[in-house]
Amino acid sequence: MATRTRIQVIDPKGDVLLRFAAPVTDAVIQQLEELEARGKQPVNEPWSSPESMCTPDAEGPAADMDMQLDKLEFPQPVNLQVSSVVLGLASPVFYAMFNLPMTEGEAFRAPGSPRPFPISLPEDNGEAFAILAHVIHHRTDAIPFLPSTAMLLAIAALADKYVCAPALMPYGVLWLQRATEPEMRDDPEYGGLVGRCNLLLFAYVLDLPVEFARLSWDVLLSHRQLLKDEMHGLELPISPDHELLRHDLHGEIARRKARLRCDVHNALMEPISRVLAQLHAVYSGPSPEPEMRPTCPNAALAIGNYMALLDSYNLSPWRPQYETDSFSAIISRALEVAAQAQENPMLFFEMCTRNRCACDRMVYGDGVHLARRLAFRLGGAWKWKLWVCLDCLKNGGVDKGNCRVKHW
Ligand SMILES: [Zn+2]
Ligand SMILES: [Zn+2]
Repeated sequence: MATRTRIQVIDPKGDVLLRFAAPVTDAVIQQLEELEARGKQPVNEPWSSPESMCTPDAEGPAADMDMQLDKLEFPQPVNLQVSSVVLGLASPVFYAMFNLPMTEGEAFRAPGSPRPFPISLPEDNGEAFAILAHVIHHRTDAIPFLPSTAMLLAIAALADKYVCAPALMPYGVLWLQRATEPEMRDDPEYGGLVGRCNLLLFAYVLDLPVEFARLSWDVLLSHRQLLKDEMHGLELPISPDHELLRHDLHGEIARRKARLRCDVHNALMEPISRVLAQLHAVYSGPSPEPEMRPTCPNAALAIGNYMALLDSYNLSPWRPQYETDSFSAIISRALEVAAQAQENPMLFFEMCTRNRCACDRMVYGDGVHLARRLAFRLGGAWKWKLWVCLDCLKNGGVDKGNCRVKHW
């Protein structure tokens, strides 16, 4: 099998050659499984070094195997020619590697050492490192328009390992902007829960507070059904002990979710308590008499009509769909219903003409239109500041007053 090594020249005068293992992709695994299924055991893994491959003059089953493997297409190992100075400027880890007295540094600086100087990084993702290297070498023509979310996470892992998140910041912001454009919402790669959570983790590692806040709000609004309710705990695709996660992201999102659930519920019910408050306000005196009176029939009618309206649009908090819908679906639907019903007289509560009614000390004009009230209470929901603040998260959930995104 041919495993020609691919050298990507990122800096033609680069004095370092970074060597990575060939990526083990799903396609590779599938091809090997197909070979195995045909009763042929591969003698060499595709990512083995060329030296360890079977000799061309091998005969018998091994040679047959070689012919089979020769027909397969495997990704090649990635080698990157880069500049040690640029790496050192972007990453204190590489700076230490090339400039401080360490094994690699000594060998790199030794007189007569080869140029470019080979350094093996077998544990790192070579494709992700190539993107990182293009960014820090300002090879903008070679930087992908928008990497996959898994690739962004692989880049974040490198940024974390080599402490070079600041050097990636401009492209981090740009990629997240592109990944969260409205038309990307229908793209499962960037709009699905897994993709959005990968983007969230990317923003977390790259320390991008605005993008992190926006993505956390988006996950909260759009993916409630996958976040489960309190009884089942929070089910984010990111594991709480993810190697890149060092703060209580799950706790913060769970608290925001509980708060959002409460706020949406209160906004839906507020028109009713507004009507009751109008009646109650009239009878706030010391007399026990009001409790003895039946409530106003106009109030009962308007509240009954309002509840029936909510119910017919699956907005009643006691209906199963209310629990499974996303918050954004509930808010959108409620605002739509409120807009359609704002002139409906059945939803207007005003004082009646009955003698000795609970409403009888109300003034004309104190009436409540329940649909308009709903629109008023829920209209600002898209701007509720219930997203997770990255700075507070990194301060253990404490707001120290110097957060980069204002949320007070
Ligand atoms: Zn009345
Ligand atoms: Zn904060």
